[in-house]
Amino acid sequence: MYTAIGYAAQSATTPLAPMRFERRSPRADDVAIEILYCGVCHSDIHQARNEWGIAVYPLMPGHEIVGKVTAVGSKVTRYKAGDLVGVGCMVDSCRHCEACAANLEQYCLEGPTMTYATPDRVDGSNTMGGYSSSIVVSEHFVVRIPVGMDPANAAPILCAGITTYSPLKHYGIKPGDRVGILGMGGLGHMGIKFAKALGAEVTLFTRSPAKADEARRQGADHVVVSTDAAQMQAVAGHFDFLLDTIPVQHDLNPYLETLTFDGVHILVGLIEPVDPALHAANLVMKRRVLAGSLIGGIAETQEVLEFCATHGITCDIEMLDIREINQAYSRMIAGDVKYRFVIDMATLTA
Ligand code: NDP
Ligand code: ZN
Repeated sequence: MYTAIGYAAQSATTPLAPMRFERRSPRADDVAIEILYCGVCHSDIHQARNEWGIAVYPLMPGHEIVGKVTAVGSKVTRYKAGDLVGVGCMVDSCRHCEACAANLEQYCLEGPTMTYATPDRVDGSNTMGGYSSSIVVSEHFVVRIPVGMDPANAAPILCAGITTYSPLKHYGIKPGDRVGILGMGGLGHMGIKFAKALGAEVTLFTRSPAKADEARRQGADHVVVSTDAAQMQAVAGHFDFLLDTIPVQHDLNPYLETLTFDGVHILVGLIEPVDPALHAANLVMKRRVLAGSLIGGIAETQEVLEFCATHGITCDIEMLDIREINQAYSRMIAGDVKYRFVIDMATLTA
């Protein structure tokens, strides 16, 4: 064990504050990492404030981690000290169920161990995330940052990137498909870039008309202001796929009506009950599908990093001093970030 520092919430109503805590010494299959950068995901806010009702305190968020390997366990074969690596939303899973065997650890039938606020499978301790100086993770859950990729820009690919890439790949998005991205924050702006790179005609649905020009710069072909009924009506029956990153309960019905027959509405932002209620006719009458998707497996996380390197896709980031993390949360809720905060861990001092 050794002492690490990080920022954690002690309860749902207290701001994040510095905390000292113990990290384990590397087990045989572990990689110890000095964290250089960590992205700030809206899930971190949901969890720090217990908005999903599953938080465990103290809660140290952070699952878009990039850092340098400092030590490896005796059985580690893929990494050595000095390697630039990443850790995303998961740090373990059962590794033998049908989902794990299919490289879909996120759907582990026994439940994956998340990077924070989940009991470690070996010692039962509460996992602590990447708003910290270091982390120790089994090598299976570590990915390699491609040579030449900027490490700060790479961090959000570990969650915002894989979460938007995975469903677009799963549903086979191809040239000519009409894809709508709902919400342009951390996930949404990556969704635009991936859908465009896969050849789709891309439309951003936003409640923020001021984002229209910026969305086009990100690669969107069209912008629909979702609060404008006339604009929503004008795209009725138009889309093949919608990727919904909106982080709060919202009316799905007006969006479903913009899908063509067999169209698929993929939820990634919402895990609460759908409210207002879904009009089933919006599915039944057009054989539409309402779907969901959770991050992506470890192999696919490595794949999306390579995809970004090959296609020159980067995340748009604002570098953050960790001492301003609470203000950053307020700004994210106000939609005032372009488009991902990334903590520069050099600002974390004892
Ligand atoms: P951000 O806060 O960066 O962006 C969310 C965007 O949604 C905003 O920029 C805004 O876009 C839109 N939005 C925000 N509030 C509202 C509102 N009240 N009504 C309508 N639209 C709104 O969040 P992230 O991109 O980091 O995360 C998005 C969601 O995805 C979160 O709920 C997060 O927990 C979840 N998530 C899910 C994962 C999964 O595996 N399924 C993994 C990671 C995150 P605009 O101004 O353009 O409308
Ligand atoms: Zn996330």
